[in-house]
Amino acid sequence: MLKALRAQKGEGKRRRSKAAETGERKRGKSREQRMGIRSVFDAGEMRRELEKRGVDPHKFLPLIWKHVILKWNHHSSSDWDWEKHVPSLPSPAYSLLRSTSPLSSSLHSVFHSNDNLTTKLLIKLHNGDFVEAVIMRYDTRLGKYAGKPRPGGVRATLCISSQVGCKMGCKFCATGTMGFKSSLTSGEIVEQLVHASSFSHIRNVVFMGMGEPLNNYSAVVESIRVMTGLPFQLSLKRITVSTVGIIHAINKLHNDLPGLNLAVSLHAPVQDIRCQIMPAARAFPLQKLMDSLQEYQRNSQQKILIEYIMLDGVNDEEQHAHQLGKLLETFQVVVNLIPFNSIGMLSQFKPTTEQKVSTFQKILRGTYNIRTTIRKQMGQDISGACGQLVVNTPDKSLGNAEPVTDIEDLFI
Ligand code: SF4
Repeated sequence: MLKALRAQKGEGKRRRSKAAETGERKRGKSREQRMGIRSVFDAGEMRRELEKRGVDPHKFLPLIWKHVILKWNHHSSSDWDWEKHVPSLPSPAYSLLRSTSPLSSSLHSVFHSNDNLTTKLLIKLHNGDFVEAVIMRYDTRLGKYAGKPRPGGVRATLCISSQVGCKMGCKFCATGTMGFKSSLTSGEIVEQLVHASSFSHIRNVVFMGMGEPLNNYSAVVESIRVMTGLPFQLSLKRITVSTVGIIHAINKLHNDLPGLNLAVSLHAPVQDIRCQIMPAARAFPLQKLMDSLQEYQRNSQQKILIEYIMLDGVNDEEQHAHQLGKLLETFQVVVNLIPFNSIGMLSQFKPTTEQKVSTFQKILRGTYNIRTTIRKQMGQDISGACGQLVVNTPDKSLGNAEPVTDIEDLFI
């Protein structure tokens, strides 16, 4: 397995240098200027362009994507031949495709943990910016269900980014420290899944990478529609969008993607503390947010995942656990307590002690009967809540991860 990963990593490097050369040759005339399409996975753009040329996008677009996913890993943009690698398309489709590369982004670097449970992908976008995506593998047999080991085998969850940086500026978040650079297109979001699929069969996708997904609403919705259609065919119930609570977007989400899992980065039980650690919360008063979650749950009949980062002396006292319990007791939720990890950033916050995290959990479980889990640290906590990723080049080794509760099991 490691050998295969190393081979793919080498392939990634080879592709990168060729792509860079090609990019330099074409400098001065961007792809958007030439054809208006950044990525063949930008479904809306591709549909419009194919229709303009009299090509049925419903029939041919999934076919184009299927061949790119299957064959791109073995090619670079300089030896990619649309006619050869994606056969049987109507000729007007080739005139559109010939002027573009199969993928607009490239795999810049790959980092995997010693135990191979976590793989971090550093992906270079067409404009030179970077985003990160993280594959987290979970062996179901390590978990228990009804007192017995869970049936099944290894599952892979992909944590993807929706923006470069983030506007929300949460003070405990590494991405928040970067500021905001840009929003990804739907194609750039989907391409993270394409890159990751060459390493693992991805079963779950979580929008918990860089960015606030609901601040890039239409691209995120379109990307999820692509991921749940041919050829990816992920189940909507295995996709989770994590938000700080953009109320107007939550109100639309169930209509646009019925069955999607929602995670809310709540992080505080009262508005004052929320505003203190999440400046954007001023625009989304806690009571209004809870009303919109009530409505979302009424319509979706699904559990909501509540993410709560534990910050020493800020939101981790027993009174906060009781306030949170009261706030959530009428909901069907799973609370995920996240030990704060300041690795890679200067921070004013300190992690809560294990003892206090455990007391917090006991109050929510014992007094309020709320299912409450504690997120275990994976390597450098690269799976942080709602985008605690920041573009960097971590040590090649991410360390050994402890068994963690898989996202899929939280929504059962
Ligand atoms: S926690 Fe999420 S919303 Fe807040 S700054 Fe980080 S990425 Fe943005």
